[in-house]
Amino acid sequence: MAGQHTFTIIKPHAVSKGYIGPILNKITEAGFRIIALKLLQLTRREAERFYEVHAERPFYNDLVEFMISGPIVVSVLEKENAVEDYRKLIGSTDPEKAEEGTIRKMYAESMQANAVHGSDSDENAEIEATFFFASSERF
Ligand code: GDP
Repeated sequence: MAGQHTFTIIKPHAVSKGYIGPILNKITEAGFRIIALKLLQLTRREAERFYEVHAERPFYNDLVEFMISGPIVVSVLEKENAVEDYRKLIGSTDPEKAEEGTIRKMYAESMQANAVHGSDSDENAEIEATFFFASSERF
């Protein structure tokens, strides 16, 4: 059975451009409940760990540099079928391929600065949520 939680990041450029409110609004309008939320800036080491699976990819160093360039918003979202439904709401990794009305279509600038992260499996959602939140910070 599909899980009820996913994890998201509002990436640095979207935070600095003032899109926290509009993006959280899209998320809640789509029926997700925010059960954990914070604004923070990643250290290099944290960003490297978070994106470890991409360590061999050519864009890894740029991605880490970008993700530590300013504050981000991290959040755990609850909804039936959360991972799949949230991936649909954010759209394709490449904003040029993202469908109209998706968060990336509306707020992404490029493949790297693509506004938001969304977990790709129930297992990763749990790992990523635990990376940022103590159980006492999840409601
Ligand atoms: P996601 O699950 O849709 O976020 O995509 P991936 O897990 O494949 O990639 C993780 C993140 O790396 C993406 O959200 C982008 O910020 C970045 N990324 C992915 N592919 C590329 C690429 O080809 N070039 C650059 N510069 N960044 C990329």
